[in-house]
Amino acid sequence: MSALEEFAPLPLQESWDNAGLQIGLTEAEVSGALLCLDVTEAIIDEAVRRGCNLVVSHHPLLFRGLKQISDLTDVQRTVMKAIGQHVGVVSMHTNMDNARGGVNFKIAEKLGLTDVAFMSPRSVGNVECGSGVIGTLAEPMVSCDFVLKVKKAFNVECAMTNELLRRKVSRVAICGGAGDFLLDEAVAAGADAFITGEMHYHQYFGYEQRLQICVIGHYQSEQFTTEVFRDIIQEKCPGVRAEIAETCTNPIFYY
Ligand SMILES: [Zn+2]
Repeated sequence: MSALEEFAPLPLQESWDNAGLQIGLTEAEVSGALLCLDVTEAIIDEAVRRGCNLVVSHHPLLFRGLKQISDLTDVQRTVMKAIGQHVGVVSMHTNMDNARGGVNFKIAEKLGLTDVAFMSPRSVGNVECGSGVIGTLAEPMVSCDFVLKVKKAFNVECAMTNELLRRKVSRVAICGGAGDFLLDEAVAAGADAFITGEMHYHQYFGYEQRLQICVIGHYQSEQFTTEVFRDIIQEKCPGVRAEIAETCTNPIFYY
């Protein structure tokens, strides 16, 4: 937990968030860490099957608090199963979104962007952080090719975009998950394109020929966050097995 928090300190998280230890004994010895985006019963089952007594997730299992722990909801059942199986759960959420080297830097890496920087850096304590990043493509691309490149890099069947830009894309702003709140910041930062995970219908209006919006799905946009977890653990805790979950927890399917 210290290694993860050193990389993405908990004070970097948003005020509404609940990152950090969710379930478990702080002094338990870790037999292995299973890395995922969402904690579900299937994830706890996989952790047990693979001999991992710790789950490291991006999205917190516990968000709004629980007033009972029963078999009535999926979150409560997951809590019961984790405790019953002695599996701890740690979540690194908006602290990992906002950290240097975190979720958005990983997305930029997958696209081969250079000069990647926070769009509007701020400081928490002495730590520089930010909600979105901007970087430059190796080569300016026509918009259609850019969208196809993003689809391929994130293995998405379908990207939602606004009308294609009639100029080339070079500077790309990124915010994994739900990043609509950064649209105007991306324009102001000189971005040609903006990649995020999800947006509402009305938010697409008004950016025609200003910004190539490219929405690739919440899960898809953040899927490589587990690689960030893996790299931290392998570097800082070389004795701990860190395994990316095989269970896909994306609740959304495309038909
Ligand atoms: Zn997310």
